[in-house]
Amino acid sequence: MTAFAVVGGGISGLVAAYRLRGLLGPDAEITLVEESARVGGKLRTVTLAGGPVDVGAEAFIARRPEVPALLAELGLSDQVVEPSGARPLIWSGGALHPLPIGTLMGVPASAQALTGLVDAQTLARIDAEPRSPLHWRPGSDTDVATLVGERFGEQVVRRSVDPLLGGVYSGLSDSIGVRAALPTLAAALDRGAPSLTAAVAEAMPEPKPGPVFGGLRDGYGVLLDALLERARPTVVTAGASGLRRDGDGWWLDPVGRVDGVVLAVPAPRLAALLRDVAPAASAAAADVPLASSVVVALALPVGVDLPQNSGILVATGESLRAKAFTLSSRKWPHLAERGGGLVRASFGRFGDAAVVDATDDELVALARTDLAEVTGLRADPVGAAVQRWHGGLPQYGPRHLDRVATIEDGVAELPGLGVAGALLHGVGVPACVASATAAARAAARVAG
Ligand SMILES: Cc1cc2nc3c(=O)[nH]c(=O)nc-3n(C[C@H](O)[C@H](O)[C@H](O)COP(=O)(O)OP(=O)(O)OC[C@H]3O[C@@H](n4cnc5c(N)ncnc54)[C@H](O)[C@@H]3O)c2cc1C
Repeated sequence: MTAFAVVGGGISGLVAAYRLRGLLGPDAEITLVEESARVGGKLRTVTLAGGPVDVGAEAFIARRPEVPALLAELGLSDQVVEPSGARPLIWSGGALHPLPIGTLMGVPASAQALTGLVDAQTLARIDAEPRSPLHWRPGSDTDVATLVGERFGEQVVRRSVDPLLGGVYSGLSDSIGVRAALPTLAAALDRGAPSLTAAVAEAMPEPKPGPVFGGLRDGYGVLLDALLERARPTVVTAGASGLRRDGDGWWLDPVGRVDGVVLAVPAPRLAALLRDVAPAASAAAADVPLASSVVVALALPVGVDLPQNSGILVATGESLRAKAFTLSSRKWPHLAERGGGLVRASFGRFGDAAVVDATDDELVALARTDLAEVTGLRADPVGAAVQRWHGGLPQYGPRHLDRVATIEDGVAELPGLGVAGALLHGVGVPACVASATAAARAAARVAG
């Protein structure tokens, strides 16, 4: 009988298992090896204030096709919800500012975009930027802070770019590479854009109708359940600890012999599993660091008057410990329907992991103090949930795509092996779904 294994039960592993079931048929033996007691990885839905609330990922980019298509396949399209359209704010210099419009992840195409957020000297510098020649070697890469700081100055980096990039990667722009995080900007620079402002204008996506993001009414938990139900894997609760060739198949500890394997684990664990079978790929995976963070979800009483905004992103260098607040009951109409206020405070960035190890009580207290500072709200929560994400997000540093190419080239030489996950072509759920689909197809090729 055909036997396959998937290592890692996050969204990437669950989608890989589901795709393998579709490719291999009902009789194939599919084993899902997940070391923790629950599946979902960075997707987790808990009950708070009488209903489901996501305490990991809470949204997906709706303009990418993968998640809506997957939900449709699983009969879950009626779960899709749209955000309210309320805009976020930025907390900078001890005050709230509207999130700039007309930037590419906070990098402006003109000074006008950042009026009010940065000082007059910085605005003048952005205005003058097109007049000083830009030196960019096509194909090169650098961190976003260096590129933006050299052209526009530190305030643009800390007040505009960091809050936005930090929201995606849990890191500062110092640790994020231009090519992986802003691929359209790198492409415009490669094509010879004369200035950074010109490159941003060229790289900005065409405005499209419809919401940018979507979410699931009952949380990501419903997607995890549906994938498990359709994939019907044998779930083994253990850490996969070794992988080696076994004839024309694979030996995976603790599962045994299988025809093919999909590895859908975070970078350091991938590095360990590939060490003997693909040393260069293993070394490249070992070079991808992880950032830890923690989400504190607060349920606030009915009548609480949250700002009419979807969230508050915190600029670097502020005295707050929180890096962002999602005002969930303002952002998502389906959560507002429950009455009461729902807020998610996030803490911890790459290089600042200590806060993640504070106690639950300390974290709830920090979330309340920081929320009071930015909104003036001091209401006692009626419920709270704390979710730590140790190693939550891979850091896409400069030359990340080279590392990904080394990983994928190394694995492509090995029949029956596939790799998937947040470390490859995007940390977002849609990119994970795409990588898992590709990995399952690659691994299943040995089954004919
Ligand atoms: C706080 C937070 C908020 C986010 N918000 C969003 C969002 O709103 N929208 C969005 O699109 N994305 C968001 N993301 C990113 C997205 O959630 C993740 O990148 C994605 O869920 C990662 O999925 P994965 O399956 O690749 O990895 P993971 O979820 O990390 O799953 C890997 C699994 O492998 C298991 N594992 C590890 N080693 C082994 C081993 N040796 N043997 C067996 N099992 C092992 C782990 O226990 C884990 O379950 C967010 C991430 C975080 C942390």
